Order: sequence, then C-alpha cells, then structure tokens
Amino acid sequence: LKVNVTEIDIPMAFGPAFEGERVRGADLHVQCGGGKTQCTELVKKAEMNEIEDGKVILEGPDVTDLKEGETFPLGIFVQIAGREFQDDFEPIMERQIHHLVNYIQGIMHIGQRDISWVRVSKGAMEKGFSLKHIGTVLYAKFHQDFQKIVDKVQVTLYTKTDEVDKMTALARENYLARDSRVDAMTDEDVDTFYSCTLCQSFAPNHVCSVSPERTGLCGAYNWMDCRAAFEINPTGPNQPIEKGECIDPKLGQWKGVNDFVNKASRGAVTHYNFYSMVTDPMTTCGCCECIAAMLPSCNGVMTVGRDYSGDTPCGMKFTTLAGVMGGGASSPGFVGHSKHNITQGKFILGDGGLLRMVWMPKMLKEELKDRIVARGEAMGVPDLYDKIADESVGITEEEILPFLEEKGHPALSMDPLIG
Ligand code: SF4
Ligand code: ZN
Repeated sequence: LKVNVTEIDIPMAFGPAFEGERVRGADLHVQCGGGKTQCTELVKKAEMNEIEDGKVILEGPDVTDLKEGETFPLGIFVQIAGREFQDDFEPIMERQIHHLVNYIQGIMHIGQRDISWVRVSKGAMEKGFSLKHIGTVLYAKFHQDFQKIVDKVQVTLYTKTDEVDKMTALARENYLARDSRVDAMTDEDVDTFYSCTLCQSFAPNHVCSVSPERTGLCGAYNWMDCRAAFEINPTGPNQPIEKGECIDPKLGQWKGVNDFVNKASRGAVTHYNFYSMVTDPMTTCGCCECIAAMLPSCNGVMTVGRDYSGDTPCGMKFTTLAGVMGGGASSPGFVGHSKHNITQGKFILGDGGLLRMVWMPKMLKEELKDRIVARGEAMGVPDLYDKIADESVGITEEEILPFLEEKGHPALSMDPLIG
C-alpha cells in the first residue's frame, strides 16, 4: 500500500514561487552553515522496519530558542525505505533538499552536502517556523515526487555541535564512497554523458554536462547519479546526451553535447569545453563547490572552495567569484567545478591538467591530499602536493611566485597558459 501525501503541513506558504527568494541582512533572523557553522545533509536508505513514516525528530534546540543574529549548526539526516529504493538513489534524493527547502517562504538554502547554508527570515519566524518543518516538507515532497521508489521517510534534525559533527563524519564517508564509484571510469569508456538542468531556476541558461571524469560542479551528481536519476524520472532534469562526433579531443568538445546545450540554454550557450577553463569553459552556477581562476604571472591556475572565506591570489574571495561567475555563463579564465573533479583525470587537461595548480586553500589541499599525491604521481610529478602554495605562503601572485620558483613547480616550465 502506497501512502498518498497531498498536504504540506507547515504554517508558511510553500512552492516554486519562493525558490529564488533571498533572505538578506535586515530580514535575517538566524542562520547555519555558510562557513560560519557546520551544516550537513545526508540521505540514507533504511530497512522498512527500521524507520517510522512521517516521523520528524529534532535533536537539540529549535530556531525559536535562538536570539536574533545567532548561528547554529545543523545536520539534516533523511532515511528512506522502499521496496524499489536503491542506494544509488541516495544522492538524487539528497540533491532535492536544496530546492525543496527553498520552496518554503522566508527560508533560503544554498549549497549541498557538508557545505550547505540555511538562512531563516524574520517573516518565517513570525509565521511560526520550526526546524521540524524542514522534515515535514521533505517527507511530503519525497512521497509526492518519488512515489514509485519511496515507501517511508523519516527525518532527524541535529542542532547540537557534537551530534552534527558525528553526522558530518558519517556523511563524508558516504560522499567519498559515492565519488569513488566513477573513479575507475574514463570519458572514453562511454558514448553517453548526462545533462543536469536542476539549477536553471537560479541560473536560467546553465546546463551542467556530467561525464565519468567530470562530476557536476556542485559535487552532488556524478555520471552514475545522473544515470540513476534518469532511470527514476525519464522526463526529469537529467537527460542522456549522445556525445556524437568529437570536435576537439584535447579541450573536450563534442557535437552531441553542443547541440544539447544550445537547445537546453535556449541558444544562449552554443558550445563549451569539458577540459578547459581558458577556452570556452563549461557554464558555472552558484552552487559550485570550487571556482578555478587563472594566475597569469605564475603561468598557472588556482582554485578556491566555498568553505574558504579569505582572500585569494586572483584578487577575489570565493563569494565575489561566485557572484560574478555564478549566473550560468561561460566565463573564459574561470570555471566552477566540484572538489572531487580536481583530482579526476581530465581536470582542465586541455590547459595542462592538475600540473597547472599553483595555489589552493590549505584546508582543501589537505582534504584532497591522498588524491593529489596519487594524481601527481600519475602525471609524473610525485611531489606535486608540496609544490602547491596555500594561504600560509601568500595570497597574491607576487607572494607565491618565489615559492613556486624555489620548489620548481611544473607550471613554470609549461607552455604559456594563454596561447
Ligand atoms: Fe545539477 Fe549542475 Fe546544479 Fe549540480 S550544479 S544540481 S549537476 S545543474
Ligand atoms: Zn546550481
């Protein structure tokens, strides 16, 4: 027997109309994530008898316990059971949290995975918003939109630091396992890539193309996830794209992709390259995990993640970069990408690949350490990791150049970045 949920039982208005709504300074009551506190999301498959359908548990204080201007940590843990539900569907459900939470009037949601950001407005508080309403919404919408695969939904919201941290550790294990499922695949292995147009409500011309060696720039969707999403919803935002004729193997451009992107962007973007940030890069939307930028005097590139709020050698902080690039345009010299993509085989390979990387925030570098070392070895520079500068070396090109020279960074002896 399938449960039919038609009501979304919350005191605020709810729907796509509120998706693009911003919660700005004067209107802000409290917030979590966004580099200020930890905010993490995880969807996990559960056994039928393990969870109770519709149950929403709040572990810790609610927003009503906080004073205006305060921050709090948040863990959103969703368990789904269903006879047809597979582990492969977890990332797809998890990525829905972004737009579904945004559908709540007066609530803003940015990001995904362990870099989410939720802002609660004064208006929502006046209407009686409780964090439990996030659970109510996810329960109702997961039943409505994914009837075929969902039988039971239980949501736990953690707001105590130690519990959020524990959930975050579990979530990171899961993200890693998902990301590594495509590690053994190359773009040459498949004839079909997948589109993702989930972000068009924010960036109308933006079309992500996801290949085995280029995960979606939000980090939440890899090639396998897109394939599973298409299986669940054949008319949804993830469509197969036949690569078709290869126009440029070095930069990564295919006729089939161009045709698709041209149509899906309504003519705004006629073509782009998978493996270049210098020449007609892929379009970028506001949810990217990282943004790479050229550093011409170092003949290399840098990248910065959403969770690093400091200055960078390209002269812009992450938030500024995201503001400028995140509208869904292709911006030569810059590209949004996922964390995982940095160490995927085709990462800006048309521009020289990971060997061009001269600066990363320390935190991001350390997070990816094992993978950077492995990629460096595969590319013939086993000590690449130690040659990449971070903010402890400097935050301008002038400051990091002597370090790169001293370390003999490979980018310095490569062809000029701009040809
Ligand atoms: Fe899809 Fe790209 Fe948006 Fe991620 S960033 S949800 S892959 S359109
Ligand atoms: Zn997006």
